[in-house]
Amino acid sequence: MVLIIKGHRFNFELENICRLFLPLEKVYVYYDEQEVTQDGSIVAVSTLKEGSDKLVLYSELTIEGRKECLEERILKNGGCDDKDIERKLSVQLYRLFVKHYGFTLSWGAITGVRPVKLLRQFAAEIGREKAAEWFKDELLVSDEKISLCLDILNIENEIIALSRPESFSLYISIPFCPSRCDYCSFVSHTVEKAARLIPLYIENLCKEIEYTGAVSRELALRLETVYIGGGTPTSISAEQLGLVLDAINRSFDLSNLREFTVEAGRPDTITEDKLRVIKSFNVGRISINPQTLNDNVLAAIGRRHTAQDYYNAFNLASKIGFGNINTDLIAGLPEDDIDSFNQSLEGVISLSPESVTVHTLAFKKSSNLVTKNRVSFEKGRQAAKMIDSSIIRLKESGYRPYYLYRQSKTVGGTENTGWAKPGFEGLYNVYIMDETHTILACGAGAVTKLCRPHDGFIERIFNFKFPYEYNSRFDEIILRKGRVKLFYEGC
Ligand code: SF4
Repeated sequence: MVLIIKGHRFNFELENICRLFLPLEKVYVYYDEQEVTQDGSIVAVSTLKEGSDKLVLYSELTIEGRKECLEERILKNGGCDDKDIERKLSVQLYRLFVKHYGFTLSWGAITGVRPVKLLRQFAAEIGREKAAEWFKDELLVSDEKISLCLDILNIENEIIALSRPESFSLYISIPFCPSRCDYCSFVSHTVEKAARLIPLYIENLCKEIEYTGAVSRELALRLETVYIGGGTPTSISAEQLGLVLDAINRSFDLSNLREFTVEAGRPDTITEDKLRVIKSFNVGRISINPQTLNDNVLAAIGRRHTAQDYYNAFNLASKIGFGNINTDLIAGLPEDDIDSFNQSLEGVISLSPESVTVHTLAFKKSSNLVTKNRVSFEKGRQAAKMIDSSIIRLKESGYRPYYLYRQSKTVGGTENTGWAKPGFEGLYNVYIMDETHTILACGAGAVTKLCRPHDGFIERIFNFKFPYEYNSRFDEIILRKGRVKLFYEGC
């Protein structure tokens, strides 16, 4: 589609509004109508004109020859800053899409990934009630989503309050998977293809962990949570897992640790010896993620396991003594429908995991689903209904929502929500989503986020994405990590 911007530079937010309704369309932005070279059947125009005492905000949307427009005039000195003008223009365009397509989105004109954080910031400035009103009246968020945000806000606030200025979390990346799921664009390598990279990868990862541990001790930082994610951490051998866990144990002061998670992930990689190794290092929380319990859907998304594999892995983990298990589901998968999603949900609830995370399928550009053109926007409404039903059933089953984020280009514009039984909230998830404190990250694709305690300023250090690069340029990884010390010394 074509987006023409006149008199302002708020293209970023307006492009995001377009993607809410047209997640698969490429948006071509122009600042001058004369320069439009793309032939679009969908054209949006967003204009800001300055008069002597007024600003004129004008939006126009033409889809297949049908044109709609909206105009608003505001006083130049009426207290509107750039942020307000950007929001008003975004909401105008949102309303035009709603008018054309005949449906609203439950998150209204919010495009950001952290709506709860946004609500928290508003609430700190103007109070909870007014912040909720703002969400409803100015950003057109539905009552249901506002109520979800408010529930999460209460729980998150308690978790955030436990963090201190010297607190940090540790993330370890194991970017390998048994095979590539069709909906995934994550830079993970299949274990078969990457087999020869893995031993050196583990060796380097342990070195990076040791180096990071030494820096954290020198700076007297306080480790609160550890999260080993991927990829699929359990796609490496039990022995390799042991090496990584041992490096963490040796390198960090774990005396203040409140949570240790291993995202075991795919049930087809979980074996008794791996679970026993994980348990022997006092990992309290694991995640076993089938995404759906419908075997046809699992086959359709390229996951080489069955629903029974999930039940087996879950029961094995429980038998070994894991008392804090999370399970992930995805709403909106191809070949799934509301009945089958609900059956998956009931199957998971029947095992009573301590937490359940319900994601919405996102259109990832390089995923097989998108490249093979196997997604349709119609799925969006279905996914929204699946999310609604998960909210009802999980609440009825004793779970509380404790963290939430949105991805761009999800089917139906809905969210990903973590649900937990009281006391089993995944603390790391809250800290990373709220950007509460520093996350020191090790491994390929890992991103360290340094968070300055007094003003929340964030600096990022990026590791190389691919394991082969991580291995071949490992010295640079250690050099980059040197920023951690400089950052804290400058605080
Ligand atoms: S297991 Fe997870 S990270 Fe690996 S390919 Fe599937 S979705 Fe992507």
